[in-house]
Amino acid sequence: MKIVCSACLLGTDCKYNGGNNYSEKLVSFIREQGAQVIPVCPEVMGGLPTPRVPSEIRDGRVYNRNGEDVHAAFTAGAQQALQVVKDENPDRIILQSRSPSCGCKEVYDGTFCGKRVKGQGIFAQMLLKEGYQPDDIEDLEEVA
Ligand code: SF4
Repeated sequence: MKIVCSACLLGTDCKYNGGNNYSEKLVSFIREQGAQVIPVCPEVMGGLPTPRVPSEIRDGRVYNRNGEDVHAAFTAGAQQALQVVKDENPDRIILQSRSPSCGCKEVYDGTFCGKRVKGQGIFAQMLLKEGYQPDDIEDLEEVA
């Protein structure tokens, strides 16, 4: 089995605050399956620094908390990560929840108040448009 996943889920410190979203559940799943893993971080691939100002999606575009439009970097990184998926043709794509890049089910609403709305991050949107079915890490037990 081959898995493309959000790099932060493996413990890479690429999250906006310089931390990660290490998932024991994912690591155990990878071990059980003997899976080959290809980590991607669309935001780093798009040239954004770590740490970075947090961003959310508002009216379809990505802005950081300072109000700067960072949509171009998010889109460029998502396109690069999409190319990795196309090249690798993984069996599963498992992504971090609620990220403005990787979120598969929900994202924050663009007000930086912690309010969630149904929707996807920019990378997940691109994957769906291309016919891929990314899974939210929260749903890993269901997909495993
Ligand atoms: S863009 Fe995705 S891989 Fe990168 S830190 Fe955010 S959730 Fe993790």
